Amino acid sequence: MYDHNSLEKKITHYWEHKKIYEKVKESNGKGERFYFCDGPPYATGQIHPGTAWNKCIKDSVCRYKRARGFNVRAQPGFDTHGLPIEVKVEQELKLTCKKDIEKIGVKKFTENCKTFATKYVGIMGKQFQRCGVWMDWDAPYLTYKDSFIDRSWGTIKKAEEKQLLEKGVYVLPYCPRCETTMANYELEYGEQTDPSIYVKFKVKGKENEFLIVWTTTPWTLVANMAVMAHPMYEYVYAKVDGETWIVAKERLDHLTAIINPIQGGSSATVLKTVSGKKLDGLQYEHPLQSKIGKEADRKIVMSDEFVTLEEGTGLVHTAPGHGPQDFIIGKRFGMEIFCPVNEQGKYSSEAGEYAGKAVREANPQVIEDLEHAGMLVHQGKVSHRYPHCWRCKTPLIYISTLQWFIKISKTKEKMLQEIETIKWQPDFAKTRFKEFVSSAPDWCISRQRYWGIPLPIWECEKENCGKYKVIGSAAELPHRVELHRPFVDELHFTCECGGKMSRIKDVLDVWFDSGNAIWASLGEKEEYMTANFITEG
Ligand SMILES: [Zn+2]
Ligand SMILES: [Zn+2]
Repeated sequence: MYDHNSLEKKITHYWEHKKIYEKVKESNGKGERFYFCDGPPYATGQIHPGTAWNKCIKDSVCRYKRARGFNVRAQPGFDTHGLPIEVKVEQELKLTCKKDIEKIGVKKFTENCKTFATKYVGIMGKQFQRCGVWMDWDAPYLTYKDSFIDRSWGTIKKAEEKQLLEKGVYVLPYCPRCETTMANYELEYGEQTDPSIYVKFKVKGKENEFLIVWTTTPWTLVANMAVMAHPMYEYVYAKVDGETWIVAKERLDHLTAIINPIQGGSSATVLKTVSGKKLDGLQYEHPLQSKIGKEADRKIVMSDEFVTLEEGTGLVHTAPGHGPQDFIIGKRFGMEIFCPVNEQGKYSSEAGEYAGKAVREANPQVIEDLEHAGMLVHQGKVSHRYPHCWRCKTPLIYISTLQWFIKISKTKEKMLQEIETIKWQPDFAKTRFKEFVSSAPDWCISRQRYWGIPLPIWECEKENCGKYKVIGSAAELPHRVELHRPFVDELHFTCECGGKMSRIKDVLDVWFDSGNAIWASLGEKEEYMTANFITEG
């Protein structure tokens, strides 16, 4: 009977014993160069059928090229940085938050991360070899090596030279447990049950008139700065239980039905109908003003892109510091990007009486306070898709933070042109990739973590100086150290103004590592070159 297990072992043993791979490489040494770039798998465990399959596809193409006489560069790679490894090491060392990491010391933590990553590099390498894959297994590229980091710094420097590197305030998904921002592609959506509440915002100067808004994130009401209405929709002033409520005409029936479902809904008498445009600038009072203390000129603003009639009331609660769409509107109308939440995902002192509370856990408190203030119209539950941290599964929150970006918007045209020069197999991969690039936002590359490529940016500490320095190679450092935290954090430069420059504490998004692997994986003596073949999926 055909016994693949023993046959495979026999063949791989023969290859090894007779050094067949080395001999093929040698005999093709003068052949035309073929650069295959191995997109690095994550080194956090055993290989799985997906990674094995992927490697075998790569191997088949490389073997075909070798058979045609090409001098194939086939260096395997491993992704060895990032949050997945940090989370595993945190579990191993029984750490639960960043404060714990700081307590045992960043040095000890990153050393453990390195040990963890190295352990699986060996294991996975052996497993790939057992699949019969011919690559340079004795010399893989590892993303945590100084040479790789050095070249990645070069990429950042290039971005700086091309004016694609920028620092700015953005509202981003944030994991309060890992205490870091996330990119959109790192979000994991899962079903989640949240409060669904309808709240009254009292119209300024009117005794009995209210805007009715809906939200599933009561905690963000603390940072409410405006209400959006659609200029083209119709809104009604309706008499309900002795009060005048303002809502979109099409949402009135829905609203009265949910507040009194047993009797088939509260009765509402429409007093007048106006177009959304007429509501522009209508001022209102914050329903929790006495609790939050934050003063602002809160009013209705116009938005034709973020107001729908599919859910809610047609009047949209807007917290520019806590939602990407709210942020756009906040910027457009010159609002303060108010974000009274700190790095631990707790309300800051700017949140008045809520200061110190973890925001999502404050939902019941906010609802109770609204009820006491007589501002809660209805509360229920909603089951919806909500983003979670891809590593620790904590529900994410949106907060505004100062981060570093690669301005994809500035280079998108060029990227789309480059896509046209590539031969795609199969065809639809091109369409898919084009769509992906077309809709890509500016890339937030900074992460507030430890085990990753340190961002090579040093900022002047002197107040109002604002100068920063981007270095493109380890050779520019005052002296050589291992290119990781905490070692690079201990190096300083002197600013033109005489001030001391310190490295920003961030590390790079781990997807940056593999993203620039084509050139970052090349050896010190190798010239820059583009890859002939890459396959991932
Ligand atoms: Zn997390
Ligand atoms: Zn300075």
